[in-house]
Amino acid sequence: MNSLSDLTFSQLKDRLQQDGINSANASAIFRLVNQGSVELSDLGKNIQHWVTEQELLQPEVLREVVSADGYTRKFVLRFRDGKEIETVLMGYEGRHTACISSQVGCAMGCVFCATGKMGLIRNLSAGEITAQVHFLNGVLANDQKAPIRNIVMMGMGEPLHNFTSLSAALEILTDPRGPGLSPARISISTVGHVPGIRKLAKLPQNYSLSVSLHGASDEERGRLIPINKRWPISDLLESCRDYTRETGRKVFIAWTLIEGANDSDVQARCLAKLLRGMEVHVNLIPLNPTEDFEGRPPSEERILAFLQIVRDEGEIPVTIRQRRGIDVGAGCGQLVV
Ligand code: SAH
Ligand code: SF4
Repeated sequence: MNSLSDLTFSQLKDRLQQDGINSANASAIFRLVNQGSVELSDLGKNIQHWVTEQELLQPEVLREVVSADGYTRKFVLRFRDGKEIETVLMGYEGRHTACISSQVGCAMGCVFCATGKMGLIRNLSAGEITAQVHFLNGVLANDQKAPIRNIVMMGMGEPLHNFTSLSAALEILTDPRGPGLSPARISISTVGHVPGIRKLAKLPQNYSLSVSLHGASDEERGRLIPINKRWPISDLLESCRDYTRETGRKVFIAWTLIEGANDSDVQARCLAKLLRGMEVHVNLIPLNPTEDFEGRPPSEERILAFLQIVRDEGEIPVTIRQRRGIDVGAGCGQLVV
């Protein structure tokens, strides 16, 4: 049976009904489980008893590593079955962003990514996804800091390959009775899982979408991202156009720059041509080092030259993603346990 932490508000109401408990208590119980301002002692005696009999997902913290600049904190969390994941807290001027994991490992096997090397061990449940946010909010509250306002689903795993848990977790995180996050401030990063993008577009709320492209021809992209064979670039970009049309949100395109692989002027021109006319924003990410992958990030000059071409010829905004926590293995693609 699902833990209480896995349940959306409407699923919780159903569970209460099944157990013969008045669903008028649903709001208070949901707040209790999802960090609203309710304590167990605020509930009636019989409800307290029922709640204590249910399972709650509280991961154990195995380790914390802090980057040298102090802005990035990576936590290794362990769930009841012993499986471990990493979750990252990134501090910016006056706010914090959480980088959340969706799976233990990942099935997609991108060649430059440490998580991909693990293979897929298992999906996280909705409660195991939201528990990371609740945990990080606890850390911030301890430091008398404001709770998380931004989430990026860029930790371990491919979120759209675990759609059922992801969509329930999103519903819980945006519920005003829980953390009450704005859907616009939650970014789902995908390797390019086309059916998942189409399902995401159909959810009742519109989330921010970031698509990891990294190659402008199927041949070049396929060398880095094996699943390109299944969902080639033309299908992927069509799903991005539809996403914008259906949700009104522009799509972010992530491009991890690898020296000699996808950083040339010719490739920048191909990318500009592909994206011209689309409502997109390109984020360039210089490659972060990972074990087993020989690639290196390009020089700063090369990165800027690439950026200029895509910006000028594509007539689209392009930025370089701030690199964070690389010294403690908390950067994009470095998460592995
Ligand atoms: N599975 C999702 C989200 C997790 S990966 C996805 O692939 O989008 C988050 C981002 O990190 C992706 O854009 C991914 O391409 C990028 N990434 C993976 N390994 C990297 C590395 N070694 N250096 C820089 N970025 C990397
Ligand atoms: Fe999975 Fe994303 Fe890593 Fe690819 S980059 S292996 S999709 S986590």
